[in-house]
Amino acid sequence: MPKKTKLLIIGSGPAGYTAAVYGSRALLEPILVQGIQPGGQLTITTEVENWPGEKEIQGPELMSNLENHAKSAGTEIVNDSISKLNLKKYPFTALSDNGTEYEAESIILATGAQAKWLNLRSEEKYKGFGVSACATCDGFFFRNEIVAVIGGGNTAVEEALFLTNFAKKVILIHRRNTLRAEKILQERLFKNSKIEVIWNSVLKEIIGTESPLNVEGIKIENLQENNEINLSCKGVFIAIGHAPSNELIIDQLELHNGGYVITKPNSTETSIPGVFAAGDITDFKYRQAVTAAGMGCMAALEAEKFLSEKK
Ligand code: FAD
Ligand code: NAP
Repeated sequence: MPKKTKLLIIGSGPAGYTAAVYGSRALLEPILVQGIQPGGQLTITTEVENWPGEKEIQGPELMSNLENHAKSAGTEIVNDSISKLNLKKYPFTALSDNGTEYEAESIILATGAQAKWLNLRSEEKYKGFGVSACATCDGFFFRNEIVAVIGGGNTAVEEALFLTNFAKKVILIHRRNTLRAEKILQERLFKNSKIEVIWNSVLKEIIGTESPLNVEGIKIENLQENNEINLSCKGVFIAIGHAPSNELIIDQLELHNGGYVITKPNSTETSIPGVFAAGDITDFKYRQAVTAAGMGCMAALEAEKFLSEKK
Protein backbone atom coordinates (compact mmCIF):
# COMPACT_ATOMS: atom_id res chain seq x y z
CA MET A 1 0.00 0.00 0.00
CA PRO A 2 1.46 3.39 -0.89
CA LYS A 3 1.99 5.94 1.85
CA LYS A 4 -0.52 8.71 1.19
CA THR A 5 0.26 12.36 1.84
CA LYS A 6 -1.17 15.76 1.02
CA LEU A 7 2.33 17.12 0.48
CA LEU A 8 5.54 15.33 -0.43
CA ILE A 9 8.70 17.46 -0.19
CA ILE A 10 11.71 16.10 -2.02
CA GLY A 11 15.00 17.51 -0.74
CA SER A 12 16.37 18.72 2.59
CA GLY A 13 18.22 21.94 1.78
CA PRO A 14 17.00 25.40 2.89
CA ALA A 15 14.14 25.20 0.34
CA GLY A 16 12.88 21.79 1.48
CA TYR A 17 13.06 22.48 5.23
CA THR A 18 11.42 25.90 4.91
CA ALA A 19 8.62 24.39 2.81
CA ALA A 20 8.26 21.78 5.56
CA VAL A 21 7.85 24.42 8.30
CA TYR A 22 5.20 26.30 6.32
CA GLY A 23 3.51 23.10 5.08
CA SER A 24 3.27 21.77 8.64
CA ARG A 25 1.82 25.04 9.93
CA ALA A 26 -0.78 24.87 7.14
CA LEU A 27 -1.71 21.43 8.58
CA LEU A 28 -0.71 19.60 5.40
CA GLU A 29 1.20 16.98 7.46
CA PRO A 30 4.07 16.93 4.96
CA ILE A 31 6.50 14.10 4.43
CA LEU A 32 10.02 15.27 3.56
CA VAL A 33 12.46 12.84 1.93
CA GLN A 34 16.01 14.03 2.58
CA GLY A 35 18.02 12.46 -0.24
CA ILE A 36 21.65 11.43 -0.12
CA GLN A 37 22.80 14.79 1.25
CA PRO A 38 20.65 15.52 4.31
CA GLY A 39 20.83 19.29 4.81
CA GLY A 40 21.96 19.96 1.23
CA GLN A 41 24.90 21.95 -0.06
CA LEU A 42 25.47 24.01 3.10
CA THR A 43 26.54 20.88 4.94
CA ILE A 44 29.80 20.92 2.95
CA THR A 45 30.77 24.47 3.83
CA THR A 46 32.08 26.13 6.99
CA GLU A 47 31.04 29.69 7.91
CA VAL A 48 27.83 31.07 6.47
CA GLU A 49 27.88 34.84 6.89
CA ASN A 50 24.80 35.92 4.98
CA TRP A 51 21.93 34.07 6.63
CA PRO A 52 19.89 36.92 8.16
CA GLY A 53 19.91 36.90 11.93
CA GLU A 54 23.21 34.99 12.19
CA LYS A 55 26.39 37.05 11.80
CA GLU A 56 28.24 33.79 11.37
CA ILE A 57 27.08 30.20 11.64
CA GLN A 58 28.58 26.92 10.48
CA GLY A 59 26.70 25.47 7.49
CA PRO A 60 26.01 22.06 9.13
CA GLU A 61 24.73 23.78 12.30
CA LEU A 62 22.39 26.02 10.32
CA MET A 63 20.96 23.02 8.48
CA SER A 64 20.56 21.05 11.69
CA ASN A 65 18.59 24.01 13.13
CA LEU A 66 16.35 24.03 10.06
CA GLU A 67 15.79 20.28 10.30
CA ASN A 68 14.84 20.54 13.99
CA HIS A 69 12.46 23.39 13.21
CA ALA A 70 10.75 21.35 10.46
CA LYS A 71 10.51 18.33 12.76
CA SER A 72 9.09 20.28 15.67
CA ALA A 73 6.53 21.90 13.36
CA GLY A 74 5.27 18.38 12.61
CA THR A 75 6.95 17.27 9.37
CA GLU A 76 7.73 13.57 8.99
CA ILE A 77 11.36 13.50 7.91
CA VAL A 78 12.53 10.40 6.08
CA ASN A 79 16.17 9.52 5.50
CA ASP A 80 15.80 8.02 2.04
CA SER A 81 15.99 9.13 -1.62
CA ILE A 82 13.33 9.27 -4.28
CA SER A 83 14.35 7.14 -7.25
CA LYS A 84 11.24 7.47 -9.43
CA LEU A 85 8.57 10.10 -9.73
CA ASN A 86 5.43 9.87 -11.85
CA LEU A 87 3.85 13.27 -12.44
CA LYS A 88 1.79 12.06 -15.39
CA LYS A 89 -1.12 10.79 -13.31
CA TYR A 90 -2.87 12.30 -10.30
CA PRO A 91 -2.37 11.77 -7.38
CA PHE A 92 1.34 11.78 -8.15
CA THR A 93 3.40 8.75 -7.20
CA ALA A 94 6.98 8.37 -6.05
CA LEU A 95 9.18 5.39 -5.26
CA SER A 96 12.13 5.56 -2.89
CA ASP A 97 15.46 3.75 -2.87
CA ASN A 98 14.38 1.61 0.07
CA GLY A 99 11.15 0.61 -1.69
CA THR A 100 8.59 2.94 -0.07
CA GLU A 101 5.83 4.05 -2.43
CA TYR A 102 4.27 7.47 -1.94
CA GLU A 103 1.00 8.82 -3.27
CA ALA A 104 1.00 12.63 -3.05
CA GLU A 105 -1.70 15.22 -3.70
CA SER A 106 0.99 17.87 -4.16
CA ILE A 107 4.76 17.84 -4.52
CA ILE A 108 7.47 20.35 -3.73
CA LEU A 109 10.60 19.61 -5.66
CA ALA A 110 13.61 20.97 -3.76
CA THR A 111 16.39 18.75 -5.07
CA GLY A 112 18.88 21.62 -5.40
CA ALA A 113 22.10 21.41 -7.35
CA GLN A 114 25.36 19.49 -7.49
CA ALA A 115 28.95 20.42 -8.24
CA LYS A 116 29.95 20.44 -11.90
CA TRP A 117 33.08 18.68 -13.13
CA LEU A 118 35.33 19.48 -16.06
CA ASN A 119 34.91 15.95 -17.42
CA LEU A 120 38.61 15.43 -18.08
CA ARG A 121 39.69 11.81 -18.13
CA SER A 122 42.48 12.52 -15.60
CA GLU A 123 39.97 14.31 -13.32
CA GLU A 124 37.83 11.17 -13.22
CA LYS A 125 40.89 9.00 -12.64
CA TYR A 126 42.13 10.96 -9.60
CA LYS A 127 38.72 11.75 -8.03
CA GLY A 128 39.12 10.77 -4.40
CA PHE A 129 42.90 10.46 -4.85
CA GLY A 130 43.75 14.17 -4.79
CA VAL A 131 40.89 15.55 -6.88
CA SER A 132 37.87 16.86 -4.99
CA ALA A 133 34.94 19.28 -5.24
CA CYS A 134 34.75 19.86 -1.49
CA ALA A 135 37.52 21.62 0.42
CA THR A 136 35.62 21.33 3.69
CA CYS A 137 35.50 17.56 3.27
CA ASP A 138 39.02 16.97 1.96
CA GLY A 139 41.18 20.02 2.80
CA PHE A 140 42.58 18.34 5.90
CA PHE A 141 44.48 15.78 3.74
CA PHE A 142 46.68 18.52 2.27
CA ARG A 143 48.51 19.85 5.32
CA ASN A 144 51.68 21.69 4.23
CA GLU A 145 51.13 20.77 0.59
CA ILE A 146 50.50 22.88 -2.51
CA VAL A 147 46.93 22.69 -3.83
CA ALA A 148 45.16 24.16 -6.86
CA VAL A 149 41.59 25.47 -7.03
CA ILE A 150 39.87 25.83 -10.40
CA GLY A 151 37.17 28.51 -10.84
CA GLY A 152 36.46 32.17 -10.15
CA GLY A 153 33.09 32.25 -8.35
CA ASN A 154 32.18 32.42 -4.67
CA THR A 155 32.75 28.72 -4.19
CA ALA A 156 36.27 28.80 -5.70
CA VAL A 157 37.31 31.80 -3.60
CA GLU A 158 35.85 30.37 -0.40
CA GLU A 159 37.51 27.01 -1.08
CA ALA A 160 40.86 28.73 -1.70
CA LEU A 161 40.59 30.73 1.53
CA PHE A 162 39.57 27.68 3.53
CA LEU A 163 42.42 25.61 2.11
CA THR A 164 44.99 28.14 3.44
CA ASN A 165 44.20 26.67 6.88
CA PHE A 166 46.00 23.51 5.81
CA ALA A 167 48.04 23.99 2.65
CA LYS A 168 51.34 25.85 2.48
CA LYS A 169 50.27 27.40 -0.84
CA VAL A 170 47.00 27.63 -2.78
CA ILE A 171 46.98 28.38 -6.51
CA LEU A 172 43.66 29.69 -7.84
CA ILE A 173 43.33 29.16 -11.58
CA HIS A 174 40.67 31.15 -13.41
CA ARG A 175 39.82 31.23 -17.08
CA ARG A 176 39.33 35.02 -17.21
CA ASN A 177 41.14 37.98 -15.66
CA THR A 178 38.37 39.02 -13.27
CA LEU A 179 36.63 37.01 -10.61
CA ARG A 180 32.89 36.43 -10.45
CA ALA A 181 33.01 36.13 -6.63
CA GLU A 182 31.57 38.81 -4.30
CA LYS A 183 33.87 41.77 -3.70
CA ILE A 184 34.26 41.06 0.02
CA LEU A 185 35.55 37.56 -0.75
CA GLN A 186 37.86 38.90 -3.46
CA GLU A 187 39.36 41.34 -0.94
CA ARG A 188 40.09 38.51 1.48
CA LEU A 189 41.60 36.43 -1.30
CA PHE A 190 43.96 39.14 -2.57
CA LYS A 191 45.09 39.92 0.98
CA ASN A 192 46.03 36.32 1.72
CA SER A 193 49.74 35.81 1.13
CA LYS A 194 49.35 32.03 0.80
CA ILE A 195 47.19 32.40 -2.34
CA GLU A 196 48.53 32.95 -5.85
CA VAL A 197 46.06 33.65 -8.68
CA ILE A 198 46.81 32.52 -12.20
CA TRP A 199 44.58 34.34 -14.68
CA ASN A 200 43.30 33.46 -18.16
CA SER A 201 44.18 29.82 -17.70
CA VAL A 202 42.37 26.49 -17.86
CA LEU A 203 43.16 23.05 -16.51
CA LYS A 204 44.19 20.65 -19.28
CA GLU A 205 45.31 17.60 -17.34
CA ILE A 206 45.97 16.26 -13.87
CA ILE A 207 49.28 14.48 -13.63
CA GLY A 208 49.97 11.78 -11.09
CA THR A 209 51.27 8.39 -10.15
CA GLU A 210 49.62 5.07 -11.00
CA SER A 211 50.18 2.86 -8.03
CA PRO A 212 49.21 4.21 -5.60
CA LEU A 213 47.04 6.79 -7.41
CA ASN A 214 48.29 10.20 -6.26
CA VAL A 215 48.20 13.67 -7.78
CA GLU A 216 51.63 15.18 -8.43
CA GLY A 217 50.77 18.21 -10.54
CA ILE A 218 48.67 19.83 -13.24
CA LYS A 219 49.05 21.01 -16.80
CA ILE A 220 47.38 24.37 -17.46
CA GLU A 221 46.98 26.39 -20.63
CA ASN A 222 47.21 30.17 -20.74
CA LEU A 223 44.45 31.15 -23.16
CA GLN A 224 45.99 34.49 -24.06
CA GLU A 225 49.53 33.35 -24.62
CA ASN A 226 48.56 29.94 -26.01
CA ASN A 227 51.17 28.13 -23.98
CA GLU A 228 51.01 25.25 -21.54
CA ILE A 229 52.87 24.92 -18.26
CA ASN A 230 53.10 22.23 -15.59
CA LEU A 231 52.72 23.07 -11.91
CA SER A 232 53.44 20.86 -8.91
CA CYS A 233 50.56 20.27 -6.48
CA LYS A 234 49.14 17.43 -4.41
CA GLY A 235 45.46 18.39 -4.51
CA VAL A 236 43.09 19.82 -7.11
CA PHE A 237 39.75 21.33 -6.09
CA ILE A 238 37.25 21.81 -8.90
CA ALA A 239 34.91 24.72 -8.11
CA ILE A 240 33.35 25.65 -11.45
CA GLY A 241 29.73 25.92 -10.43
CA HIS A 242 26.72 23.77 -9.95
CA ALA A 243 24.09 22.06 -12.14
CA PRO A 244 20.46 21.46 -11.12
CA SER A 245 19.61 17.97 -9.81
CA ASN A 246 16.81 17.32 -12.28
CA GLU A 247 17.13 13.57 -12.93
CA LEU A 248 13.68 12.80 -11.48
CA ILE A 249 11.79 15.21 -13.69
CA ILE A 250 13.88 15.62 -16.81
CA ASP A 251 11.15 14.32 -19.18
CA GLN A 252 8.20 15.47 -17.11
CA LEU A 253 8.53 19.18 -16.41
CA GLU A 254 9.47 22.07 -18.66
CA LEU A 255 13.12 23.06 -18.17
CA HIS A 256 15.35 25.88 -19.41
CA ASN A 257 18.84 27.42 -19.11
CA GLY A 258 20.66 24.11 -18.88
CA GLY A 259 18.07 22.08 -17.01
CA TYR A 260 16.51 24.39 -14.40
CA VAL A 261 12.78 23.88 -13.78
CA ILE A 262 10.62 26.62 -15.30
CA THR A 263 8.28 28.24 -12.81
CA LYS A 264 5.59 30.82 -13.50
CA PRO A 265 6.62 34.45 -12.83
CA ASN A 266 6.63 35.30 -9.10
CA SER A 267 5.54 31.77 -8.28
CA THR A 268 6.89 28.26 -7.73
CA GLU A 269 4.20 26.65 -9.94
CA THR A 270 5.70 24.39 -12.60
CA SER A 271 4.19 23.21 -15.88
CA ILE A 272 2.14 20.60 -13.93
CA PRO A 273 -0.54 21.90 -11.49
CA GLY A 274 0.17 20.62 -7.98
CA VAL A 275 3.93 20.36 -8.57
CA PHE A 276 6.02 23.23 -7.21
CA ALA A 277 9.76 23.85 -7.51
CA ALA A 278 11.86 25.80 -5.00
CA GLY A 279 15.53 26.63 -4.54
CA ASP A 280 18.50 25.83 -6.75
CA ILE A 281 16.52 23.35 -8.88
CA THR A 282 14.72 26.33 -10.42
CA ASP A 283 17.03 29.27 -9.62
CA PHE A 284 19.85 29.88 -12.08
CA LYS A 285 20.25 33.49 -10.98
CA TYR A 286 20.62 33.97 -7.21
CA ARG A 287 21.37 30.47 -5.84
CA GLN A 288 21.57 31.55 -2.21
CA ALA A 289 20.39 29.79 0.92
CA VAL A 290 18.04 32.61 1.81
CA THR A 291 16.46 32.78 -1.65
CA ALA A 292 16.03 28.99 -1.61
CA ALA A 293 14.31 29.28 1.78
CA GLY A 294 12.09 32.08 0.46
CA MET A 295 11.02 29.92 -2.45
CA GLY A 296 10.37 27.02 -0.07
CA CYS A 297 7.96 29.25 1.82
CA MET A 298 6.23 30.30 -1.42
CA ALA A 299 5.94 26.69 -2.58
CA ALA A 300 4.25 25.54 0.65
CA LEU A 301 1.78 28.45 0.57
CA GLU A 302 1.02 27.71 -3.07
CA ALA A 303 0.60 23.97 -2.38
CA GLU A 304 -1.86 24.82 0.41
CA LYS A 305 -3.85 27.08 -1.96
CA PHE A 306 -3.82 24.40 -4.68
CA LEU A 307 -5.15 21.75 -2.28
CA SER A 308 -7.84 23.96 -0.77
CA GLU A 309 -9.07 25.04 -4.22
CA LYS A 310 -9.16 21.38 -5.29
CA LYS A 311 -11.38 20.54 -2.34
P1 FAD B 1 20.38 22.04 -1.78
O1 FAD B 1 21.01 22.69 -0.62
O2 FAD B 1 21.17 21.81 -3.02
O3 FAD B 1 19.78 20.66 -1.29
C1 FAD B 1 19.21 19.76 -2.20
C2 FAD B 1 18.60 18.63 -1.42
O4 FAD B 1 17.90 17.75 -2.32
C3 FAD B 1 19.62 17.75 -0.70
O5 FAD B 1 19.17 17.54 0.62
C4 FAD B 1 19.59 16.43 -1.47
O6 FAD B 1 19.87 15.31 -0.63
C5 FAD B 1 18.15 16.42 -1.94
N1 FAD B 1 17.88 15.55 -3.09
C6 FAD B 1 18.46 15.57 -4.31
N2 FAD B 1 17.97 14.56 -5.07
C7 FAD B 1 17.06 13.91 -4.30
C8 FAD B 1 16.24 12.77 -4.48
N3 FAD B 1 16.24 12.09 -5.64
N4 FAD B 1 15.43 12.37 -3.47
C9 FAD B 1 15.40 13.06 -2.30
N5 FAD B 1 16.16 14.15 -2.06
C10 FAD B 1 16.99 14.55 -3.04
N6 FAD B 1 24.60 30.19 -0.09
C11 FAD B 1 24.51 31.23 0.77
O7 FAD B 1 23.47 31.90 0.82
N7 FAD B 1 25.52 31.50 1.64
C12 FAD B 1 26.66 30.78 1.67
O8 FAD B 1 27.57 31.08 2.44
C13 FAD B 1 26.79 29.70 0.76
N8 FAD B 1 27.89 28.94 0.77
C14 FAD B 1 27.97 27.89 -0.09
C15 FAD B 1 29.14 27.11 -0.04
C16 FAD B 1 29.26 26.03 -0.90
C17 FAD B 1 30.52 25.19 -0.85
C18 FAD B 1 28.21 25.72 -1.80
C19 FAD B 1 28.34 24.53 -2.70
C20 FAD B 1 27.07 26.49 -1.85
C21 FAD B 1 26.95 27.60 -1.00
N9 FAD B 1 25.83 28.42 -1.02
C22 FAD B 1 25.71 29.44 -0.13
C23 FAD B 1 24.69 28.15 -1.91
C24 FAD B 1 23.57 27.40 -1.11
O9 FAD B 1 24.15 26.28 -0.47
C25 FAD B 1 22.46 26.94 -2.03
O10 FAD B 1 21.93 28.04 -2.73
C26 FAD B 1 21.33 26.28 -1.23
O11 FAD B 1 21.81 25.21 -0.45
C27 FAD B 1 20.24 25.75 -2.16
O12 FAD B 1 19.28 25.15 -1.37
P2 FAD B 1 18.25 24.08 -1.95
O13 FAD B 1 17.30 23.81 -0.83
O14 FAD B 1 17.71 24.53 -3.24
O15 FAD B 1 19.07 22.78 -2.27
P1 NAP C 1 29.41 30.18 -10.26
O1 NAP C 1 29.06 31.45 -9.57
O2 NAP C 1 28.61 29.72 -11.42
O3 NAP C 1 30.95 30.32 -10.71
C1 NAP C 1 31.58 29.30 -11.44
C2 NAP C 1 33.00 29.73 -11.77
O4 NAP C 1 33.65 28.68 -12.45
C3 NAP C 1 33.03 30.97 -12.67
O5 NAP C 1 34.08 31.80 -12.28
C4 NAP C 1 33.26 30.36 -14.04
O6 NAP C 1 34.01 31.19 -14.88
C5 NAP C 1 34.09 29.13 -13.73
N1 NAP C 1 33.85 28.06 -14.70
C6 NAP C 1 32.66 27.55 -15.09
N2 NAP C 1 32.84 26.57 -15.97
C7 NAP C 1 34.17 26.46 -16.16
C8 NAP C 1 34.97 25.63 -16.96
N3 NAP C 1 34.44 24.68 -17.75
N4 NAP C 1 36.31 25.77 -16.92
C9 NAP C 1 36.87 26.72 -16.11
N5 NAP C 1 36.15 27.55 -15.32
C10 NAP C 1 34.82 27.42 -15.34
O7 NAP C 1 29.42 28.94 -9.24
P2 NAP C 1 29.78 28.86 -7.68
O8 NAP C 1 30.94 29.65 -7.35
O9 NAP C 1 29.75 27.40 -7.36
O10 NAP C 1 28.50 29.49 -6.99
C11 NAP C 1 27.20 28.91 -7.23
C12 NAP C 1 26.15 29.72 -6.51
O11 NAP C 1 26.27 29.51 -5.10
C13 NAP C 1 26.32 31.21 -6.77
O12 NAP C 1 25.07 31.81 -6.90
C14 NAP C 1 27.01 31.69 -5.54
O13 NAP C 1 26.72 33.05 -5.24
C15 NAP C 1 26.44 30.75 -4.46
N6 NAP C 1 27.43 30.69 -3.39
C16 NAP C 1 27.38 31.69 -2.46
C17 NAP C 1 28.33 31.77 -1.49
C18 NAP C 1 28.28 32.90 -0.52
O14 NAP C 1 27.30 33.61 -0.52
N7 NAP C 1 29.28 33.12 0.31
C19 NAP C 1 29.35 30.82 -1.43
C20 NAP C 1 29.40 29.82 -2.42
C21 NAP C 1 28.43 29.78 -3.38
P3 NAP C 1 33.40 32.57 -15.46
O15 NAP C 1 33.44 33.53 -14.31
O16 NAP C 1 34.34 32.89 -16.55
O17 NAP C 1 32.02 32.23 -15.92
